[in-house]
Amino acid sequence: MSGEHVLICVAWPYANGPLHLGHVAGCYLPPDIQYRFERALGNHVLMVSGSDEHGTPITVTAETQGISPQDVVDEYHAINLQALTDLGCAWANSIDARGPAYGGALFNRTSHAEHKRMVQENFRKLFDAGFFERQTMEQYYETNEDGSGRFLPDRYVEGTCPTCGDDDARGDQCDSCGATYEAVELKNPVSKMNPDAKVEIRETEHLFYRLDLFQDALQEHAADRQSVWKTNVKAMTKQWLDMGLRPRAVTRDLDWGIDVPLKEDVWHGKCVYVWFEAVQGYLTCAKIWAQNNADRLDGGEHAWKRWWMVHEDGSVPRHLYFLGKDNIPFHTVIWPALILGLNQVAKGKTADESIVLPGPGELALEANVPAMDYLMLAGGQFSKSRKHAVWLPSFLERYDPDMLRYYLSINMPEQGDTDFNWPDFVSKVNNELNAAYGNFVHRVLTLGPRFPFDPGASPFARHDNHPSVQVHKDALEVALKDITNLLQRHRYKEALRRVMNVAQYGNQILQNAAPWVHMKQPQDGAEESLATLSFCWRIVRFLAIVTQPFLPTSAQRLWSSLGYDTEVMDVSWHDAVDWTAPLVWLDAAPSPLFERLDLEEILAVEHTLVEDEPQHAQVHGVKGGKKSGGKNMKQETEGVAYVDFETFMSVNLRVGKIVEAQDHPDADKLYVVKLDDGSGTLRTICAGLKEHYSRSAMEGMMVVFVENLKPRPLRGVVSEGMMLAADDGEGVVKLITVDGEIKPGSQVR
Ligand SMILES: [Zn+2]
Repeated sequence: MSGEHVLICVAWPYANGPLHLGHVAGCYLPPDIQYRFERALGNHVLMVSGSDEHGTPITVTAETQGISPQDVVDEYHAINLQALTDLGCAWANSIDARGPAYGGALFNRTSHAEHKRMVQENFRKLFDAGFFERQTMEQYYETNEDGSGRFLPDRYVEGTCPTCGDDDARGDQCDSCGATYEAVELKNPVSKMNPDAKVEIRETEHLFYRLDLFQDALQEHAADRQSVWKTNVKAMTKQWLDMGLRPRAVTRDLDWGIDVPLKEDVWHGKCVYVWFEAVQGYLTCAKIWAQNNADRLDGGEHAWKRWWMVHEDGSVPRHLYFLGKDNIPFHTVIWPALILGLNQVAKGKTADESIVLPGPGELALEANVPAMDYLMLAGGQFSKSRKHAVWLPSFLERYDPDMLRYYLSINMPEQGDTDFNWPDFVSKVNNELNAAYGNFVHRVLTLGPRFPFDPGASPFARHDNHPSVQVHKDALEVALKDITNLLQRHRYKEALRRVMNVAQYGNQILQNAAPWVHMKQPQDGAEESLATLSFCWRIVRFLAIVTQPFLPTSAQRLWSSLGYDTEVMDVSWHDAVDWTAPLVWLDAAPSPLFERLDLEEILAVEHTLVEDEPQHAQVHGVKGGKKSGGKNMKQETEGVAYVDFETFMSVNLRVGKIVEAQDHPDADKLYVVKLDDGSGTLRTICAGLKEHYSRSAMEGMMVVFVENLKPRPLRGVVSEGMMLAADDGEGVVKLITVDGEIKPGSQVR
């Protein structure tokens, strides 16, 4: 059995809110592309990740909503796993279809009992070997009237900024002036959750991991990686190493998390700091995957070692970590320091003995950390009311996952932040995905049956492998080399662009060959022309195989349209240029690969979905994505574009009475509403309310509408304004109405 062992490590999302498109572009789509590509190459690939369920991001969310932390993590673990699966990410592949020796995938949770047990065991070993030091810290403590109390993590404290005097400063950072400080430096501290409680500074004991002991080994490791790491990874790692590593706290005063596994009273009521345990998930997840599948795996529950340990022959399993740029030092400095510490204790050595890079039988360090920059939400007109579009679950309710995968891949924030906006999304889907790729495929598959051919046989067979197509074979072989090379270097955007070039190439040679000229009555050059069309079938097959990592759902649809009853995901990458593959054929007429999007219609529907973003979704910073801040964000928050007062006042809101609602003749989701706006003539408004109101229920309603929205044609009907509606984000949409009788045309202030 040949093939390399590859471990795909995906940053663990906090389970306290839904994933948004920024997370997907930065952390969750690239590893899935890589996973699928590595599998197609024939490698043994294990993909690991899961929900990060401990720490203050979770408890803050729970306390804000008045529910238990367990409820929060149960809800969002399920939502996020479902959304990633809906996006086509291969988390359901518990065991590789090629056989258990090839690996699989596991999206686990840090609340998993085995994860907890392994973390505690590692904690204990590192403690015993002298890798922790004890420090006395000062921290805020709140006391309630009844005498009960607790230590307050930084996120739980607010007060006056010690630098600029702003009254809305957070525990460790001021959003007004940008200063960071120790929480105890804050003036007039108040408990955020419990403002009446008495807050004072108390001393508390904590353990710190001796990162400083790993300085030399990590510098050696970083030097080793200079030719591999991207510029941003090199720069951020260097910055950390240049500052000199310092011990880092591994315990904290919090009850939601993994208990500190030490018996002394002083550790009672403290938990393992979330960074220390969640990052170990990459390792525990691989072990738990092997446990889960032990009866099928060669080596049983020890099978994980093939993906984690330097092999006896010195070859190293390739560890690829996918994360957002805010998380780089964690994966190039902190996690490697933990791995090196675990290797040290596995050898029976202590913190006093010299620390060396991993050898055979030891846990391997990362091979690369292809960290992405951020995908931003454009601060234009849609970002304010269009927050729902940012969230992955609601996006996938409305659009083909491959459209999103295409858009995010072709805009991947590989070298600098990129933007999401609706017009660009629609334009790329229509003009690139559809016009170049979808259209080419459709032409080839519909031209085929117009060939004169033997019933039951592939119409392309007679004209296959004509000498005139050699030049096209050469072109595709070069293309495959380029695409492979780019994917190996994690250049997803360019790789996909190269794939799209092949579709354009196909369109071009088909256009030049004009086979339709010869369909009924062959003219001069018929043989070469039909040979080109026949080769275009091979280009379509090539495209199904090489789009599979990027666009798995449509690749499978295309594969089936070609006449295959297998999974394109399991087809070998280099089969894309196997020119001897039989020309299978499906007699059924193919349906178009992608739907065309209508920007005006999308905007109309999006406009009616005025979604109020859940408060808790704003409070956390999800690892690997753009950090969002606390309640007093003064800097730009992703997804929020502030408007000034004049802009707001320039919107004319009035009351109107719905006279009638009719189905839009050409758009399934829209009503055409006639509104009495008090002017004497009826106003026409298109509204995406069909799923929420029957026509008769709407008639007679007094609603609030925007009077001065520029009229726009929506699939042939000019819409003159917009009605306001509320949306809870879970499918309930209600029109905004007025409280009682009032004249149509009345101003809303
Ligand atoms: Zn300040």
